[in-house]
Amino acid sequence: MSEPCKTFEPKLKFFGTMNGASGSHTNAFFCPDDETIVFLDMSLLNVYAADDLIRMMPNLRRYYMCVTHNHYDHVSGIDKLAFDVRLYSPGSSLTIIVDERIREETVMHLETGGLRSLPGHYGGEVYELLSFDSYRSAYTFRDKSGKPLSRMVSPEWFVKTIPTSHSLRLSGASGFALNVDGSLIIYSGDTSQLSPYVEFLRDEIGDEQRNARIDPPIEFYLDVMARKEELHLSFSEVAEDLKCLLASYPTMKLILMHYDEVGKLKQLIEKLMPASQGWPVYIAKPF
Ligand SMILES: [Zn+2]
Ligand SMILES: [Zn+2]
Repeated sequence: MSEPCKTFEPKLKFFGTMNGASGSHTNAFFCPDDETIVFLDMSLLNVYAADDLIRMMPNLRRYYMCVTHNHYDHVSGIDKLAFDVRLYSPGSSLTIIVDERIREETVMHLETGGLRSLPGHYGGEVYELLSFDSYRSAYTFRDKSGKPLSRMVSPEWFVKTIPTSHSLRLSGASGFALNVDGSLIIYSGDTSQLSPYVEFLRDEIGDEQRNARIDPPIEFYLDVMARKEELHLSFSEVAEDLKCLLASYPTMKLILMHYDEVGKLKQLIEKLMPASQGWPVYIAKPF
């Protein structure tokens, strides 16, 4: 992580931190405990690093994948990862979590990519898919066919999905709200809007964080570009809104990801939200 605070250790680790046109696609992970790993998207560029990680962690038994949307820099490595989980961790399988709005599209993507039930020694389903129904107050999990699940399947670290807008060619895109070691993690995925996350915070915490000592630390991982771009946020256009947000939630740290040009982004941060004025703005770096 970059300045201003060298002691800040973000809860999420990144395989890559940049956009789909770069050689460093934004995919992340965290481990809620010794036996569990949660991936946030997986590009083919990063899946070999993910394999190495899995091999270095022999205690892993539970593997989750949160999918934000079906662009190749976010999903092109998921089928290989699912096969590799079966290979390196016999008896385990990858549980994929998506927002209900993109369930069908995700299943179609995975199954045309080869993730069907396998005969032979792998046996049965290669992956499990759970979709979280974020429509209004209907907080239900569904299986890959869309059937509501009655049993409790929500892992402890999962809070909810946050639907957003990104590309009209997709059925949808969503961010994730997560609880990692007591911190509230907001992971935007790719987004062209800031408002879904502002609304989530308002619903979850209130308009303003009234007591920074009792409210949870918040880490907000946000898709921003240095250049102006239709499908993503541009830092210069949202800087004023981000200042308001950080002023309202004093325990929040903002971590920028999925960027295009790191040099230009640093210049913009220095100009619009400089560390010298105390803005807790960081640039995500690969682990
Ligand atoms: Zn992307
Ligand atoms: Zn995208």
